[in-house]
Amino acid sequence: MKYLLVIGDGMADNPVPQLDNKTPLQTANIPTIDRMAARGLVGHVINCPKPLPAGSETAILSIFGCDPLRYFTGRSPMEAAAAGIRLLPGDAAFRCNLVTLEDGDQPLEKKKILSHSAGSIDGESALESVDVLLSEPRFAKALRDAEIEIHRFPAFRQLAVQHNSNIEGISFIPPHDHLGEEASPLFPSGSERAKPFAELMRLAHEILDRHPVTEKRRAAGKMPANGIWFWAEGTAVELPGFREQYGCGGAVISAVPLVHGIGVLRGLEMVEVEGATGELDTNFPGKLEAVWEKLQEYDFVCLHLEAPDECTHNGDLTGKVQAIEWLDSRLVTPLLDRLENAGLSHRVLLLSDHKTLTATRGHDGDPVPFLLYDSRRDDGRGGVYDEPAGENGPFIQNGSALLDLLFEKTSLS
Ligand SMILES: [Zn+2]
Repeated sequence: MKYLLVIGDGMADNPVPQLDNKTPLQTANIPTIDRMAARGLVGHVINCPKPLPAGSETAILSIFGCDPLRYFTGRSPMEAAAAGIRLLPGDAAFRCNLVTLEDGDQPLEKKKILSHSAGSIDGESALESVDVLLSEPRFAKALRDAEIEIHRFPAFRQLAVQHNSNIEGISFIPPHDHLGEEASPLFPSGSERAKPFAELMRLAHEILDRHPVTEKRRAAGKMPANGIWFWAEGTAVELPGFREQYGCGGAVISAVPLVHGIGVLRGLEMVEVEGATGELDTNFPGKLEAVWEKLQEYDFVCLHLEAPDECTHNGDLTGKVQAIEWLDSRLVTPLLDRLENAGLSHRVLLLSDHKTLTATRGHDGDPVPFLLYDSRRDDGRGGVYDEPAGENGPFIQNGSALLDLLFEKTSLS
């Protein structure tokens, strides 16, 4: 038996006026996913229990069978695991995004956050911008004084580690939930120890805003990387072994360090696919081949597609619908064809980890629809995979029970 977990990040949504009050999932043409829904079971599940953040950092922990109320210490320690960064006692990890703050002569206090990803900055430009900061003497000194190291990555997602850290009482705010809002009231605050972070963010804007590297992006019509944003703080975490719990090993195919990191902490293999960007331009054929290859090696493979979430954050509704359709036509359909042609029985759990709302361009922790399919059975329920279908099906209070259903350790009927 092969077990396939398919996560379409942020696919679920609320009805959207531009889509005749339908959701992107209801609008998208997804015949294979709907065929699985018709033969299998569609229900709804809470992956982001309150009061934890509504986002992949809690939702994907749930989906991987770890109750976030017990295991969530913050997003960045999981991303650090994917990058092979070991956190020592007393360390805390942080995301340090490259962001776009509004242009103009107004003071920083009045500037709005325009993009949490500096317009989905490409790898080369991202490294250029980070290197500008790391080689600037004032910035380098401020980092040293605060005992912070920045680990550079070819994407908008940089990682920071602070030694001898104490993050208690500091409020760090995710930038993607506050697009279009004034930046400085959202800077880290709440304790004296927040000040070095806020100061580094101010300094980064001062250094980057008029730097030639930034001007080069403006001149090319791209969003400038003229700021950094600390968030996603957390201390080290250990997760229980996947094989001990479910009886098999597996692999995780994703473009997103967080998803890889949760897999790594669970003892799963992390598979990086060249050209997997986390956006609509991701390498679909490469991801398909990687999943297929790992299905020969393991009984469990997770395929994660970030594009629907990023499209929503970027305000790209057409892109979101396209991403959902491509998940069906370019990944799920060929995978199921291959499994069927190879005569391999399979069970599939497919879901959106959390809602990402077109209305706000931010995440939402409401229940999301999930789909369970078994190639050996046609339960004859009929129906499709979307939010209303999920709400009409069984309700799972705690998403960490989903893998028990996939592995038939429990059942709903
Ligand atoms: Zn997101």
